[in-house]
Amino acid sequence: MVPSLTDFGFVALVPENGFRWMSQADLEVRSVKRTTTRHAFVMVDQEPSDLGALLVNPKPKSNTVRRSPCEDRALFQEFASLDATNVDSLLAFSNEHGMLGFGTPVYCELTRPADALRCSESRDPITGETVGYLQAETHADWTHAIAKMRVAVSVLRAINAPGQAGEEKELTKLFSWQSIDVDQRYPDDRPGHWMVDTHPSLPIPNIKEFNREATDRIWGYVTHDILSEFETIQTVSKVWIADEINRHLNGKASPKIKLEGGGRIREYLQCSTLLAAMWSQVYSAFTGGKRYEQCKGCGKWFEVSNERGGRTVRAMYCGDACRVRSYRARRDQAATLAGEGLSAKEIVERFQSEGHEADLATVKKWVKPSTKRKGK
Ligand SMILES: [Zn+2]
Repeated sequence: MVPSLTDFGFVALVPENGFRWMSQADLEVRSVKRTTTRHAFVMVDQEPSDLGALLVNPKPKSNTVRRSPCEDRALFQEFASLDATNVDSLLAFSNEHGMLGFGTPVYCELTRPADALRCSESRDPITGETVGYLQAETHADWTHAIAKMRVAVSVLRAINAPGQAGEEKELTKLFSWQSIDVDQRYPDDRPGHWMVDTHPSLPIPNIKEFNREATDRIWGYVTHDILSEFETIQTVSKVWIADEINRHLNGKASPKIKLEGGGRIREYLQCSTLLAAMWSQVYSAFTGGKRYEQCKGCGKWFEVSNERGGRTVRAMYCGDACRVRSYRARRDQAATLAGEGLSAKEIVERFQSEGHEADLATVKKWVKPSTKRKGK
């Protein structure tokens, strides 16, 4: 039986005192194993800055706090909206929800006892010398993962909000057909490829350089399967997102069954990393046609319930608390504006221009007592 893909299991263990960014110089890093290409090592004395600072657990033996980040069903949206250049916001995210789960191997000098370097003793995979070893996440790991999630979010918005020209236009900025001059000697060669490129104005990257994936540019073929030039951009983007979902969940998500009270069966998808857990949410959003909005009250992303749909007030706030708080704030603001001499009609216009729903009858009701008070 296929597990319900709206239920995800993932537990993050966050150190009591949090993670920390450390510079490669502070850790005396010799090499960092690339997470995306196996058997390849980046020697830091050649390319030290590309991968950036390292996110580490400064005290691996310290107490940890258990977190269940998947309870927030729109966590992937929050992740996509992170500013990758703001390392403090990335640290705050990891201290709340855990590391992404790259576990990038880092080899350091053993000039101090391994313990002081917060790492264990190991052998340098290239020279065989005794070195310090630890697992970390590079700033490049985070930058690239956020950039990719942003593309996924753009695709989801476009395919789950059909008919919105703006969303589809966003896709044409990301996906394009690149034709190739077919060599007459090989007439069966494909005439081109669908490409994804978040920075189409930049020159085509040098593959060797680009493979380090240290930038926020997402660039590559949409698929290795043949996809005709005449496919719609919607289909092309669906092929891309399905491929990325499969890639991110491969080996990192397993269906589980748990017997709960009364013999009730709970089916869920157990993820082994935070990144896989967030891509499971993308899976659910893609297959379930889900829509997400940012709360007008607190700015938090939330899944819009399909029950009502449309632009109801439920599609504007993450929950009752924000809805009530916003209602009160507008009521108070209406009184203030009325005190400044604005008519009820002008107040309604002001609210609507700020994206809030407002109707004249309600605003008149709000404004009345304050005018009375003024009269006394
Ligand atoms: Zn809210």
